[in-house]
Parts: sequence; C-alpha cells; structure tokens
Amino acid sequence: MDYRAVLEEVAATARSAAGVGRVAEYIPALAAADPTAFGFAVADLGGQGGVDGVGDWEAPFSIQSVSKVFTLALVLAADGEGLWARVGKEPSGSPFNSLAQLERDRGVPRNPFVNAGALVVTDRLQDLTGDASSALRDFLRAESGDPRVDFDRGIAASELRHGHRNAALAHLLADHDRLANRVRTVLHHYYLQCSITMNCRTLALAARFLARHGLRADGTRLLTRSEAKRVNAVMLVGGTYDEAGEFAHRVGLPAKSGVGGGILAVVPGRCTLCAWGPALDPHGNSTAALAALDAFTTLTGWSVF
Ligand code: GLU
Repeated sequence: MDYRAVLEEVAATARSAAGVGRVAEYIPALAAADPTAFGFAVADLGGQGGVDGVGDWEAPFSIQSVSKVFTLALVLAADGEGLWARVGKEPSGSPFNSLAQLERDRGVPRNPFVNAGALVVTDRLQDLTGDASSALRDFLRAESGDPRVDFDRGIAASELRHGHRNAALAHLLADHDRLANRVRTVLHHYYLQCSITMNCRTLALAARFLARHGLRADGTRLLTRSEAKRVNAVMLVGGTYDEAGEFAHRVGLPAKSGVGGGILAVVPGRCTLCAWGPALDPHGNSTAALAALDAFTTLTGWSVF
C-alpha cells in the first residue's frame, strides 16, 4: 500500500492540533520539548515490511509509558498467565498514578499500564531477567533494528529526584506484599525503562509483533496468538489513561500513550502506527497524536471495529 497521500492528510489534520495542550512539566527534563513538534509513522507487515512517515517522524523523544506495553509482553512471554493474579485487566477510570485506587484495591493495580501496575510488571521482569531495563532495551533494539536505542539517564535521574508519587505507589505495593524486589531496585528499572529514547519510526517497527499476532521481527514467536490478543485488549481498555473510552470511540484501535507525547497503535494483521506531539491534553494524551490517529482510521477505515 502506498501511504503517501494518507500520511500527508494525517499531517495536515494533526498540525492544527499540534501545540494545543501542555507538555509534561511534572518531569522537569521533559518540560523543554517543543510543543509544536509532530511526527507520524506507519510500519507495514506486507512485502518487505516497509515503514514510512511524515513530519518529525525520526526525531527522538522519551517513550515513557509506551514502554509498559513491551515490559508486559516480555513478562507474558517468559512467564505465561501468572501475572494476572497480581495485576488486573480493567480500565482504571482514575488518574494513572492514583494512590487512592491502589489502596482501595488492596495493592492489586487495575491494569498493567497504570503506574502501580507497571511497577509490578517491572518487578516481575527483574525477577525473570536479573536486569529488567537492559532486557527491555535489548528487545527494543532487536525489534526496531536500531542499535542506538538507549536510556536517557538524565531523564531517569530527573524522575527519580521528583517522583515522590511513584515512590509512594511502590511503597504501598510493598506494604501490601506485592513486590519481590526492593522498592529502590524496582524504581531504578522503572525510571530507566521510561527514559528510553526512540522515534516514531523505531517504535512502530518495534511493536510489529503485536500486529503479527505474537511473531517477532526474525520470525520467531514471542507471544502465543492468545497472549498477543490479550496485550492488545488491555491496550484498548487501559492504554490511554482515563481517556480510553474517548480514544476507542474516536480511533478504534489498541494503543498505548506516554507523557513524552507518543502514542503507539496497532492494526492487527496489517500495520503498526506511532504518532508523536509533546503537548498533552488534561488526561496525559498527546493532542496532535490523538488527532493524527483519528484522521488515519477515518481515512483508511482501518480499526478493530
Ligand atoms: N515516567 C512517567 C511516570 O511514572 C510515565 C508516565 C506516563 O508516561 O504515563 O510518571
């Protein structure tokens, strides 16, 4: 498929939204991002598995919570379904860093994408690999084909210094006996995973296993078909903070967003998409990326519905 005309139209629509909203100032190292930047990439499964994009699609950004899709996949791949005893699969309906919800639910996070859930997933990945953040980085390098994918240690340090709420969530989990590793170890790997720098191109490439029903770039299987379905399903109900209903309504695809302004989306059996713009709406989703994905599914008619 020749995506050129679609990409140009997506960019024209999204540019009118780029800059609307606010960059994530609660992580000081992210506050310097240009709010008007915009990029979009599509990685196709057909033929050679081509990738194309528009705008700042090769500009680096902090993947932040988009990383949570990949750590979840790595844990499911190594550990099967046991994780679901420790983490739910329901929409949260609350802010992604809610302490009140975690306390009400006795230390069982609503889903793997709220921060508490991601901390539990990282804790498990640490048990399974001995070095959770490096396992994630190496996986992203292999799937994207780009050996330059790496941590931004400045961003990780900035989060560690200012992340009182994440520290509180981790301590609350520990208090409920939900972590196998020490709080500081889990936070260390969690912040490194969030700090990974990629671009629309490499993120779309790295996620193709979700569109390929679990098959990796080299043709080996990471997830069973059913596990891949489950990751996509949890993305649909919980991947875009407490705006997942609005997102499903407008875009109709499994997706995961991050406060760095990236949104990764999956069209199962067909392609992956990554849109980026640093300015966020009040829920934490990029306004430009949301507009771009909305335009893409409207133009192509591709959604899971
Ligand atoms: N590192 C960020 C935090 O823990 C990730 C938030 C996000 O992208 O949703 O607050």
